[in-house]
Amino acid sequence: MNIIVCIKQVPGTTQVKINPETGTLIRDGVEAVVNPFDEYAIEEALRIKEKAGGTVKIITMGPPQADTALKTAISMGADEGYLVSDRALAGSDTWATSYAVSRGIASLGGFDLIICGKQAIDGDTAQVGPGVAEMLDIPFVAWVRKIEEISEGSIRVERMMEEGYEVIEMPLPGLITVVKEINEPRLASLKGKMRAKKAHIPVLTAEQIKAEPEKVGLKGSPTQVLRSFVPERKKSGEKISGEISELVEKMKSTIMDLGIVK
Ligand SMILES: Cc1cc2nc3c(=O)[nH]c(=O)nc-3n(C[C@H](O)[C@H](O)[C@H](O)COP(=O)(O)OP(=O)(O)OC[C@H]3O[C@@H](n4cnc5c(N)ncnc54)[C@H](O)[C@@H]3O)c2cc1C
Repeated sequence: MNIIVCIKQVPGTTQVKINPETGTLIRDGVEAVVNPFDEYAIEEALRIKEKAGGTVKIITMGPPQADTALKTAISMGADEGYLVSDRALAGSDTWATSYAVSRGIASLGGFDLIICGKQAIDGDTAQVGPGVAEMLDIPFVAWVRKIEEISEGSIRVERMMEEGYEVIEMPLPGLITVVKEINEPRLASLKGKMRAKKAHIPVLTAEQIKAEPEKVGLKGSPTQVLRSFVPERKKSGEKISGEISELVEKMKSTIMDLGIVK
């Protein structure tokens, strides 16, 4: 079973600031980690490989320093890591990112299964997994919480719904995105860390992955950020207590103050 896992390097904090002029994230000085949902994707790929054999390749699109995310995946047990990185890709939106990642995957040769995280904790769109599947013209199931069975040419999964779950069978090659309920990611072993330290990470340029220049980067992105802002914080509620008659009076005066009733 040849598995490709898509991972994204994200800021390891929720306190990320946005450049008010460009509307982009200020990443300088912020610790970078593997998107937490992608750790579940890596773990699931490793578990399949342990049972069925094969290889686990990891791919990410990002700046040169994103190779540390790939090394983290290798230290967990992945076989190889590939970094799609090129200035021409900067400013790509989710459509252009999906296109570039799908081109990167196509350049790696054949695969049976692609696993992505449910969503990235910074961009939060959950669009890249389904986008990659569409661009590779393969079927996909999002929000997978369990792989019930996987064999050559087919996979049966449980897909999480708001209430309950669905069981879906899908032919392979295909793509799944996984939720945190699927497993408990392992920690890297010392041996894994040593292997990762020595690992060579090939860098794939836009030309190498045969990405059409007009489909990547800011120019190739169909969406544009017009404005980004922090929403106003809503006031937290106030708890009132006391005798019923007292409470009624307090509520009356609050309603008057709010101008709901004159
Ligand atoms: C107009 C516009 C301009 C942008 N410009 C920039 C910019 O200049 N620099 C910048 O860093 N971001 C930029 N972004 C954000 C960037 O497009 C998204 O971060 C990226 O497309 C991933 O989307 P997401 O974070 O919502 O991931 P999601 O779709 O939520 O991620 C789901 C899953 O897809 C996979 N995945 C996501 N991203 C990658 C990746 N890069 N490589 C491999 N797998 C991945 C992972 O498995 C992940 O769990 C821009 C976005 C827009 C709309």
